[in-house]
Amino acid sequence: MTDDQPTGRTRQLPVFHCPYCGDEELTPYGDSSDGWRCGACLRAFSVRLIATGVHE
Ligand SMILES: [Zn+2]
Repeated sequence: MTDDQPTGRTRQLPVFHCPYCGDEELTPYGDSSDGWRCGACLRAFSVRLIATGVHE
C-alpha cells in the first residue's frame, strides 16, 4: 500500500456545509482525516467517499 498518489484523490474530502444544519463553520475533528466538527450545531461527523463514477 503506497501513499504516493500526486492527485491526492484518496485524501480528505473538502466539506463546505454541515449535512445536518447547513452551516459553514466546519473544522477538522478527531484523529481521522475524515472527521469534521460543526461549530453551529456542535455535531461531529465523518465524510467518506465510497465510490466514484457510479452509474445506476
Ligand atoms: Zn451543523
